[in-house]
Amino acid sequence: MATFYILLGAPGAGKGTQAKNLSAALKLPHISSGEIFRENIAAGTELGKAVNEYISRGDLVPDDITNAMIRERLGREDCAEGAILDGFPRTMAQAQALAHDLHELDSHVSAVLSIDVPEDVLVSRLSGRWMCREKGHVYHDVLNPPCEPGVCDTDGSELYQREDDKPETVAARIQVYLSQTAPLIEHFEELGLLHRVNGDQEIEVVTESLQRAIAERKP
Ligand code: ADP
Ligand code: ADP
Repeated sequence: MATFYILLGAPGAGKGTQAKNLSAALKLPHISSGEIFRENIAAGTELGKAVNEYISRGDLVPDDITNAMIRERLGREDCAEGAILDGFPRTMAQAQALAHDLHELDSHVSAVLSIDVPEDVLVSRLSGRWMCREKGHVYHDVLNPPCEPGVCDTDGSELYQREDDKPETVAARIQVYLSQTAPLIEHFEELGLLHRVNGDQEIEVVTESLQRAIAERKP
């Protein structure tokens, strides 16, 4: 049976960082909705043009666009054994669409991992975040610096600061998280799928906590 894990958490909680670690450890593809949107914006595709304004304002992209994009991604060959979902679902309608799509693939959500981090920590993490252009590897100029400033340790590509990590947009994104995404915590708790992990610890310690939660989940 394929295993699909959802990483839930506010902007800056460490979803992308942890998804990359779990993807390597569990040998499952890492699907980041934000990363797919950014690739499309950079490539100037129709999807990229459709989502650019929402993302630069810190708003969510509408559910129909996001759900269609994820449905297409989940249907690809490399998801046959499952995937790590980072940043999707972010609304109740997306959670319902995901359940439906996985059902069509004879599967379901295996576990939901909520990474909990206090708001002041989120803000300082996002203000120092740098990402690589090639594959979205994540750094922080103080908390998790690359060996050489401005260069990705893994693939040597250029590091950049995201336009939506400026303070005004960060504040808007945290509000959007609280109003639209945080209710999913209760939803998945009711389904018996939720595991909460303290994300305000060293990166490796958080990865170990997530792996423990996955190992403890009910089959
Ligand atoms: P998200 O995908 O949830 O927005 P990221 O994985 O991009 O979060 O992490 C946000 C920022 O915080 C990055 O700069 C990253 O290097 C840093 N970071 C992530 N996890 C930790 C951690 N456990 N401790 C310190 N810094 C972290
Ligand atoms: P972060 O890692 O900081 O949480 P992401 O890279 O996941 O941010 O997402 C960046 C932006 O892309 C979001 O602020 C939002 O505008 C858009 N986005 C990403 N995932 C979704 C989603 N599931 N639904 C709607 N919009 C999304």
